Amino acid sequence: MASHTALRCRECGREYPIAPIYTCEWCFGPLEATYDYDAIKGSISREAIAAGPASIWRYGPLLPVSAPAGAALNAGWTPLVRADRLAAELGLGELWIKDDTRNPTNSFKDRVVAVALGKALDFGFKTAACASTGNLANAVAAAAARTGLESFVFVPSDLEAGKILTTAVYGGNVVAIDGNYDDVNRLCAELAAEFPWAFVNVNVRPFYAEGSKTLAYETAEQLGWETPDHVVVPIASGSLLTKIHKGFHELHTVGLLDEEPVVRVSGAQALGCSPVATAFADGVDDVHPVRPSTIAKSLAIGNPADGYYALDVIRKTGGACGSVTDDEVVEGMRLLARTEGIFGETAAGVTIATLAKLAREGVVRRDERVVAYVTGHGLKTLDAIAPHVSVTTTIPPRLDAFRAAFPELTQEA
Ligand SMILES: *Cc1c(COP(=O)(O)O)cnc(C)c1O
Ligand SMILES: [Zn+2]
Repeated sequence: MASHTALRCRECGREYPIAPIYTCEWCFGPLEATYDYDAIKGSISREAIAAGPASIWRYGPLLPVSAPAGAALNAGWTPLVRADRLAAELGLGELWIKDDTRNPTNSFKDRVVAVALGKALDFGFKTAACASTGNLANAVAAAAARTGLESFVFVPSDLEAGKILTTAVYGGNVVAIDGNYDDVNRLCAELAAEFPWAFVNVNVRPFYAEGSKTLAYETAEQLGWETPDHVVVPIASGSLLTKIHKGFHELHTVGLLDEEPVVRVSGAQALGCSPVATAFADGVDDVHPVRPSTIAKSLAIGNPADGYYALDVIRKTGGACGSVTDDEVVEGMRLLARTEGIFGETAAGVTIATLAKLAREGVVRRDERVVAYVTGHGLKTLDAIAPHVSVTTTIPPRLDAFRAAFPELTQEA
């Protein structure tokens, strides 16, 4: 973290000292954390990482903040599981699922929040805040509770009941806004100018975003310090996708991988909110904002802040960006659960259904080592799946009733 040196504008390259700022004063481009990679190279090793904590903090030198004292902001080091049954079903060869449902609040957002709040504490903030499509609200409210910060989370009022409850339980302030995420985000940008709070995805966004790199680090380490050939990543703002790409390449920069990795990065969106997939299909650079309408609410950002950069990563790595209908999202959730015993939320349904589609189209190939990112838990989006699954049958508590209901089992016995 001593190697995190400055913030740099992604557009004009101007540098700024480390502070809770997020846009370039000169060109309004987004700011990104920069590092002294030579210094990191001299101090990092596979062995030191292996001896580190079972969390994102094992990669401390590649993050813009050191691990806060205690285990207050834990996240990461989630399982990477081989998914042979799902692979067979999709006609793929080597397929892995990065199961990020296994985080403290059951989504990958715990990673970004750990970094953002670590930095917020450094800066001396007393209140954490965010604009959220649901999972970020969970993660901020929980991490604020653990670290003794006050919290204000802002969400669209039509969010899933499960996501509201699993946020409100932590006792912070949950402010529902009559509007979509893009309205909430705009309001938060205004609030950030007025209130001295750490808005994790506004004024501390450059630090927050770096937390997503840990998904790439873990993937490579868990593959025995090798990289996948192709990854499939869900897109909301597009930040996660760009940071997974950045993470793989940093591992080479700091000497943890011998060769420059070649990883195709594909994006996944719900058809009802697919501005990046649309730009990809149309072959244009501009990501046109849309009004979201999909059950995949955690991905429902109509005006994605990093959409342009995500599109650039997808194109330059030879990936693709697919989109799937809400019915396909539900089918994707069920397919993952049925084949691998992993219950992902609607965003996972988007990822798995898009993976299936790209496999059918021959974009994701049988000869590739593929990793799909399952970023949130299905228990938070029960509304989406409730109309589609139920008990197999209901019977009285009698042996003959069971035999009558399952005659084929009686024959087998
Ligand atoms: C926020 C979120 C994403 C994508 O995040 P971005 O970095 O905004 O693209 C993916 N999956 C889930 C479950 C999320 O909550
Ligand atoms: Zn600039």
